[in-house]
Amino acid sequence: MKTVHPSVYRASILHFLSDPLLDGDEAYEYFEDGALVVDQGKVIQLGDAQTLLAQLDHPANLVDLRGQLIIPGFIDTHLHYPQIDIMASHGEALLDWLNRYTFPAEQAFKDPRHALETANFFVDELLKNGTTTAAVFGTVHKTSVNAFFEVSQARNTRMICGQVMMDRNAPRALCDTATQSYEDSSELISKWHQNGRQQYAVTPRFAITSSPAQLEVAAQLLKDTPSLLLQTHLSENKDEIAFALKLFPEANDYLDIYERYGLVNSNSVFAHALHLNDDQCQRLGAQQAKIAFCPSSNLFLGSGLADIKKFDTHNLGLSLASDVGAGTRLSMLHTMAEAYKVCRLQNYSLDALRSFYLATLAGAKALGLEDKVGSFRPGNEADFVVLNYDATSLMKRRQVQCEDLPDKLFALLMLGDDRSITSTYVAGKRVYHADNNPHA
Ligand SMILES: [Zn+2]
Repeated sequence: MKTVHPSVYRASILHFLSDPLLDGDEAYEYFEDGALVVDQGKVIQLGDAQTLLAQLDHPANLVDLRGQLIIPGFIDTHLHYPQIDIMASHGEALLDWLNRYTFPAEQAFKDPRHALETANFFVDELLKNGTTTAAVFGTVHKTSVNAFFEVSQARNTRMICGQVMMDRNAPRALCDTATQSYEDSSELISKWHQNGRQQYAVTPRFAITSSPAQLEVAAQLLKDTPSLLLQTHLSENKDEIAFALKLFPEANDYLDIYERYGLVNSNSVFAHALHLNDDQCQRLGAQQAKIAFCPSSNLFLGSGLADIKKFDTHNLGLSLASDVGAGTRLSMLHTMAEAYKVCRLQNYSLDALRSFYLATLAGAKALGLEDKVGSFRPGNEADFVVLNYDATSLMKRRQVQCEDLPDKLFALLMLGDDRSITSTYVAGKRVYHADNNPHA
């Protein structure tokens, strides 16, 4: 039998141990000439290349990527794979956008062939963008989730997905019933949850499209299997908020709808949370609920500006998400750039290091995966991405002017996109490589 040696990746290496907002320079490790040692899909060691290479007492496959940057794979905490084909659809705010573009597109996922073809394309696009873990919505069809997990399983990616629960205020072809959603979700949970690297999330679309009975079912599913996440939308758009409160007149505010059904806790990931007052933020913080900040989607639909400072005041578990198809790119570099602009519109400059934290370790924390991915802690799964600072002549020219790491990272996130990804590794295996990259 052929002996498999550990692999050593030599490059500049950056990863986070905690939030730079709280811990400053203590929050990350950076090795200008670093080495990442990977064996059997796991991170074994990380450190200064010269020191580590001298210490290695066994043969290793050395991969020389000097001049490039290795970080943990990006983690996108909220997006919809069935919406990939309606990205960049013109002219609507949230509720009209759902009716005009989303609901018609989602109906096609009843067909398993369409679901499989789209899931294949979608996961490959994620990997091309350096995203190795994502929390993904399917549609109301079981076929959509089976297809997604089959595709993810085949690539050994660590993914989270759930069947959308929706029993009202949507076209008849996209509506289930409370009972049906319980049965479908339960079947998918027993088939896929913690099967290899796959994990299920209970996925009511939002308060508007679920009856009280269905929200009770969501709570029951979470009670049946406490390791499940809940993923849904919260307070994205003012018309949405008004409609939701009309449907649940007993609720004091939007968050209170979910609270009444026991859906707000540390396993809950809420996309958007744009129009919350201090009281709602305080309640989310007290429950350690998680927020997926989706800047490109919020700008695209004109939904509003997330108040990051307010989130931070209340210690909310913040992470970054593309929210494709309303998001305008799968690229988390692009998403970071849009996050910076959202903050600038509120007179605040989001730090480059913190942006990279939000797109890696913070995402892992939001999804309860920080003991598996999101950093290079020894024993973690070796999901990582190799970034090329000099992907285009413009980017290369800009990098020459950079004086320190934050400056280099900021230029990379602001100008970068999928062209900046040299290669993507999943559990130590290279799953994407930019063949046309002269620096590879
Ligand atoms: Zn969404």
